[in-house]
Amino acid sequence: LAKAVPVLQLVDVRKTFGDFAAVDGIDVDIREGEFVTIVGPSGSGKTTLLRMLAGMEAPSSGYITLRGELINDVPADKRPTCLVFQSLALFPHKTVGENIEFPLKVRKMPAAERKRRALDFMRMVRLPEHYYAKNVMRCSGGEKQRVALARAFAYDPDVLFFDEPLSALDYKLKKVLEKELKDLHRESGKTFVYITHSLEEAMVMSDRVGVMSRGRLVQIGTPEDIYTRPATRFVAEFFGEVNSFPVKRMPDGGWTLAEGGPIIVAPVDTAMGDTATVIVRPETMRFVTGPSRADNLISGKIYNEYSLGSRMQYQVHAGERIYLVEVARAAASGLVAGDAVTIGWDARDAILVGD
Ligand code: ATP
Repeated sequence: LAKAVPVLQLVDVRKTFGDFAAVDGIDVDIREGEFVTIVGPSGSGKTTLLRMLAGMEAPSSGYITLRGELINDVPADKRPTCLVFQSLALFPHKTVGENIEFPLKVRKMPAAERKRRALDFMRMVRLPEHYYAKNVMRCSGGEKQRVALARAFAYDPDVLFFDEPLSALDYKLKKVLEKELKDLHRESGKTFVYITHSLEEAMVMSDRVGVMSRGRLVQIGTPEDIYTRPATRFVAEFFGEVNSFPVKRMPDGGWTLAEGGPIIVAPVDTAMGDTATVIVRPETMRFVTGPSRADNLISGKIYNEYSLGSRMQYQVHAGERIYLVEVARAAASGLVAGDAVTIGWDARDAILVGD
């Protein structure tokens, strides 16, 4: 089946500027029809990687193949790919219809056919039909984003690349468009490669998420993998606030807190050094009252509380340490700053990561 051949394959791809490696050896296969998102902090090399994939920059070394053909030096306009980015690059004095039809016009499609196709794409990106004749500059930010997307589809590319297309939009619109983009991905069957600095955005939309740090891909996997089995402390902490405990190995192979004291951690089958970090997410910690079966118990005092809407987060101080505990609002009734509490978490919720 066609699915067996990756649509895009990267082998040891590097990009250096002087002595600095912005992309420092990336290997990845992207399958037909996949939605892959690359996330990473500012400066981690995401844009540089995407520019190489889209043909705006040639790799310094390594190979990029598209359906088995080497494309390292093939310029952007000669690739069956299309880049959608934040600044959109729409034609400002033209209508929505003219913008979307541009790629069709270049291909010399007759006018009536062009219009029919443009209206199809507008429907696909949920733009009302009467926008066809509207000047694109009179559209809102979200609508412009849809126009850019419709135009990208009009190119009929094999792969669509997205460079933070939603980052300039307000939170609510962004949330709506994230889901629409995922729906659109499903409906179109195209391969999407997306970059963002927001792991949250990546998790909502993607089949697989790749996490970049300093030019390298530290982990790539399903959102579930990244969340439940982060490969490194960096990945776990990139995800959001976590409780982390430096630990060291004991002679019997178990673990103890580096600062001293017991910690119960489920065994892992990956190789670890003599020191590691245990990550416990705030949402897997809980308040314990009465007799408890939690593997790890800590007594402390609530220092502050934060409302997250349906959930509550608490900062709990215990000795020198600060813990974050997040529980459903209903499970938190009556807790206030100053209360003495016992927090508990289970070994199976402890994620052991190498340093
Ligand atoms: P952001 O989220 O801020 O856009 P990014 O992850 O996309 O960051 P890149 O833009 O790929 O990161 O940049 C990676 C590194 O490469 C940065 O340190 C940047 O300064 C450097 N870099 C990128 N382009 C060039 C260039 N043309 N010349 C020199 N250095 C560059």
